[in-house]
Amino acid sequence: MNTLSYTIVPPGEYGFTTFQLLVDGTPMQEFAGYVECVLPYWEIKGDFSVAEPDPTSKDDCLRIVGTCDCGESGCGATHARVTKDATTVRIADFSGWRRPGANQEVVVGRENYDRVMRELTGFAEQERQIVAARVQAAEALRRQGNQRNVP
Ligand SMILES: [Zn+2]
Repeated sequence: MNTLSYTIVPPGEYGFTTFQLLVDGTPMQEFAGYVECVLPYWEIKGDFSVAEPDPTSKDDCLRIVGTCDCGESGCGATHARVTKDATTVRIADFSGWRRPGANQEVVVGRENYDRVMRELTGFAEQERQIVAARVQAAEALRRQGNQRNVP
């Protein structure tokens, strides 16, 4: 059984917060051998985002576990099948850019998985509010500027 944890990575080149998932203390993309490696905050909402096409079952479906570092999952993403039962969660069948010989699956306790997803969802929600407030402030400044420019 593996242990899932995370760190929160402040905005870098592209200006958004990302999550770094750790498996037994090692970044998950290294552990699982995939190359595309950021997890933008908006890809976590209670769980990993579901990859297209829509899954038939929410307890066994293909999810986005990483995206291109520009954050756009349509640009490039790593998918994995996430299968849950009462006590464990299996993250496997990684697809995308992979290194040969890497681990094929991660198996963590259901409680561990649910706790990490709950905490990350909380951070993601805070981040959404901060970004929304910033957009509002920018809008307000723009309106003020427009008013000042009215002759
Ligand atoms: Zn990209």
